[in-house]
Amino acid sequence: MSQRLILFAKYILTMDRPKPIEDGFVVIQGSRIIQVGKRKDLYLRPSLRILDLGETILLPGLINAHCHLDYTSFKGRVRYAGGFRKWLSKMAMKTRATIPAEFKRSIQKGIKESLAYGTTTLCDISTSWESYPLLRQSGLRAFVFLELIDLGNPSARDYWKGFQEKLRGLIRSATPTPTFRLGLSPHTPFTVSKELLQLVRVFLQDHQELLTTIHIAESREETDYFRKGKGSITERIKILNPDWNRPRKTSPVQYLNDCGWLPKLDLGVHLNEVDEKDLRLLAKNRIAVVHCPGSHAFFKRGPFRYSRMRRHHIPVSLGTDSLASNQSLSLFREMRLFQKAHPTVSAQEILSMVTVRPAQALGFGDKLGQIKPGYLADLIGLPLPPGKADSSDLAGRVLRHYGPVSFSMVNGESKLRLSLTK
Ligand SMILES: [Zn+2]
Repeated sequence: MSQRLILFAKYILTMDRPKPIEDGFVVIQGSRIIQVGKRKDLYLRPSLRILDLGETILLPGLINAHCHLDYTSFKGRVRYAGGFRKWLSKMAMKTRATIPAEFKRSIQKGIKESLAYGTTTLCDISTSWESYPLLRQSGLRAFVFLELIDLGNPSARDYWKGFQEKLRGLIRSATPTPTFRLGLSPHTPFTVSKELLQLVRVFLQDHQELLTTIHIAESREETDYFRKGKGSITERIKILNPDWNRPRKTSPVQYLNDCGWLPKLDLGVHLNEVDEKDLRLLAKNRIAVVHCPGSHAFFKRGPFRYSRMRRHHIPVSLGTDSLASNQSLSLFREMRLFQKAHPTVSAQEILSMVTVRPAQALGFGDKLGQIKPGYLADLIGLPLPPGKADSSDLAGRVLRHYGPVSFSMVNGESKLRLSLTK
């Protein structure tokens, strides 16, 4: 039996109860939390290891529900001008010109930055397929979604055959570990053919363990393609795949529903352009939406319809997207951007978008995102500035945190420890 570790902290924000625990403790055994409470109620035994974090807010490790570590080094290098379709083409060209060693450097940089900013779980969309061994070894909890795009490919069947051969090899070699899982990400409903969507959907019937995510209804150009069969995306598809069945008078969400994809979809990313019918479909299929405030601002999107989603009980999580369309992999910054755009939403609710909600979306609602007995020990600590802390606004204080965290633990293992008092 592994030795028990006790963490002491000035405040523990469990995300399980409305008020923080003042002068609290967490007992950890192996990868699990086994006890949480107030320091004065703890019966100390000499065999226990103690780590006193002192003037610290201890909270669940943050979950980034959407990022692309491949593109960390693209920061500031893909200008947005001339519309979203052009930006996507620039990204595709840059990706093709990037060698594996550069992707690896980019991913390592992204892992380091994420960890420093308190992220303990990453959902990474992998185009290069280089992130899975790196994330697997990183000690971060990771969900790697392999990306599929067959736009510009003459045969969906041939594309899928090649993808599947690589994928089967990967599934054999990269079996799930306690901190690593694989998933699939058809890129968007307009860069993946209907035929490929169908082939992947059938494959998933025998691979229920694979999670799925898709970028949906991100831009006006995408909506124009589905609703009117017009616009820059439509023109591009006409050139690249003239034989594709082009949809009409539908929406990206309704199109995916008609393709039979919504019941299998776990994370729907962006959903900026949605109407009431779309929202009803998302709610009915229990799709978790991922919103990326930094990327949203980069592309100057219209208002994100959070209150409508909340009315439909659609859970929203936050992600950073890639640094090709964002400045930082800090989820603290994403929370602040969300708060600025939605000032009536409480700090506690915003914090749940990077803890409780993404944990539930990933099927880990009973294991991650909260500090309570039986849950995995993924924790972070934030230093409290000197002076009296106002415990009634602790979540607000968390959102106002800048810079690296002072403590980080994934699966019961310390990853980062600064300014310890003991
Ligand atoms: Zn993305």
